[in-house]
Amino acid sequence: MDFHLDTLLNFPNATVEQCIQEAGEIFLTLRLLNDAADCPNCGHSTEELHQSRPVLLRDLSIFGQATHLKIPRRQFYCRACQRYFTESLPYVDKGRQYTCRYEEYIYQQVQLTTIEQVSRMEGLTYDRVEGIFNHQYEFKKKRVGLERNESQLMKSVTGKDSETLPPLSETLRLDDSWR
Ligand SMILES: [Zn+2]
Repeated sequence: MDFHLDTLLNFPNATVEQCIQEAGEIFLTLRLLNDAADCPNCGHSTEELHQSRPVLLRDLSIFGQATHLKIPRRQFYCRACQRYFTESLPYVDKGRQYTCRYEEYIYQQVQLTTIEQVSRMEGLTYDRVEGIFNHQYEFKKKRVGLERNESQLMKSVTGKDSETLPPLSETLRLDDSWR
């Protein structure tokens, strides 16, 4: 729709078809530009679209207004392995209701302030903010673990440990002290 909006959105193979402002919130309807998707089982590229249903994802606010993206979640059929699969999108983790960059933002904000404060600022429930924080924490822990395995050789050479995360209990205690 709008070149500038697409540039700001900064997602591959996606264009903004509609932009609605409603009660101080922004809703962007996206259209995906790729016709094919790669099967996660065998890597075969397929254009056989089985079904598409829109999902609403929370994204970073635009000009201080809460922003939601309406994105088609598409299911394709792979003829090679005769299976259906849901297309994976690089900007949202499987089964999440938020974009990766929004979850990353919430994770950082919680560390700077408190879950309550982030909950108020973002208009999300306490449980949702906590859920995002824990999801990101687990994700980072896994990544640090992987990096540590990869850097075992380096470690023995340099004698230095790779980046570590504080224990979750400590991070949450930090949160408690601000209550
Ligand atoms: Zn396949």
